[in-house]
Amino acid sequence: MSFKFCPACATPLEMLTRDEDGGPKERLRCPACAWTHWNNPTPVLAAVIECADRDGQILLARNAAWTHRMFALITGFMEAGETPKEGITREVAEETSLQADAVNLIGVYDFQRMNQVIIAYHVLARGEVKLSPELAEYKLYTPETVRCWPAGTGYALADWLSSRGHRPQFIELPPRPAAT
Ligand SMILES: [Zn+2]
Repeated sequence: MSFKFCPACATPLEMLTRDEDGGPKERLRCPACAWTHWNNPTPVLAAVIECADRDGQILLARNAAWTHRMFALITGFMEAGETPKEGITREVAEETSLQADAVNLIGVYDFQRMNQVIIAYHVLARGEVKLSPELAEYKLYTPETVRCWPAGTGYALADWLSSRGHRPQFIELPPRPAAT
């Protein structure tokens, strides 16, 4: 997220160098009240959903906002006042209406292009799939046929497959539209 004005006092922000613990550092700062745009990465929760009542198939979903037909993990932001585990359990329920039987950490992955840190969980879930409007469609894959993608959440899926004795296979990512 980019800021033009100080969210505390509405003064236009400037790139200013100040001394920090690690030495002098140029950042977007407020010249009037010393507010600093730290631009720290945002944590994002992600779920490899294994369907306990569908022979252990893995559910991937396509975001309605995506123009390409890419199926990926369920992801979402944490809410204030919840643990990461509670957050991903809530996201899975909201996005797919599946109920989690067990939630276990796969790992933490960087996604620098989006300035995010991905906290990925394996979620064993069951129930009838009802997608939220955010998601256009879903597909079920066996661990043998699912393909990973070379980006943050794709590595989480690959690591989980490896942990279960499968050899992850990767696809090429579709070309990204030019940044506007
Ligand atoms: Zn200010």
